[in-house]
Amino acid sequence: TRTYIVTGSASGIGSATAELLRERGHKVIGVDLRNADVEADLSTPEGRQTAADRAVEAAGGSVDAVIACAGISAPIPLTVSVNFFGVTEFLDRLAPVLARSEAPRAVVVSSMASLQPNSPELVDAMLAGDEAMARQIGQKLADQGPQIGYLNYPSSKRALSRWVRRESIGERYAGNGIPLNAVAPGTVLTAMTRELLAAPEGAKMVDENVPMPLNGHSEPVVIARLLAWLASEENTHLAGQTIYCDGGADASLRGDDI
Ligand code: NAD
Repeated sequence: TRTYIVTGSASGIGSATAELLRERGHKVIGVDLRNADVEADLSTPEGRQTAADRAVEAAGGSVDAVIACAGISAPIPLTVSVNFFGVTEFLDRLAPVLARSEAPRAVVVSSMASLQPNSPELVDAMLAGDEAMARQIGQKLADQGPQIGYLNYPSSKRALSRWVRRESIGERYAGNGIPLNAVAPGTVLTAMTRELLAAPEGAKMVDENVPMPLNGHSEPVVIARLLAWLASEENTHLAGQTIYCDGGADASLRGDDI
């Protein structure tokens, strides 16, 4: 059995992932704002440090894999802090602990939204590690209303997928024998999408932006199974990738652009 740290464990994809791994006999330390083994706020630098320290303590000092699911989609700069810095800083803190495992793995949750229009300036600020600058740019977007403010979300996921690509081949991850990847779900039936999908106009907009010809919207366990494999001992060579688990949405939207 292995020991996993799962963020966002109180709801949706993170909750399904923690449950699946526990069913399979593994030890899971869940991290979330509330209703978790470790309750901490990944939107702040202090919260990330507390979360990492307490999760390692709860794991008894040895961790085999980290699966970072916590995220929000609000049209405000907080989204950048949770979805990008709340993932990358948290993982970077845990990498030296993971490195002591015989089969360490790290997986994050990106999104189909990583392919949507975004703010390149905001993406660059995140990848430069400048959270203050990124928040400033994100706030300027938010000030122009929710439609422009929404760019905080696709920008956070574009930056995250690009970070995975860059870091996966560097000293901290490949150098420590840690495959690092992302999963990009299409539309998943969770608290994040519930309200939007309940309204006919909302559902129509979602389906136009994320068409899913194969099997439609997915249950969170569908994503959990892929996350579990990427974080398992079986994955030795898959690295730096964003895997679209999206009912064919990427193939529909990007077509031959590969
Ligand atoms: P969800 O709202 O059901 O779960 C997200 C969890 O993250 C919640 O338990 C929440 O408390 C936690 N969280 C939020 N902010 C936090 C913080 N500051 N510190 C600690 N925990 C925090 O949503 P979900 O759909 O399960 O989303 C999981 C991930 O999947 C997110 O990264 C999201 O962007 C991504 N995603 C979701 C969909 C979808 O259609 N639902 C599609 C693509 C990507």
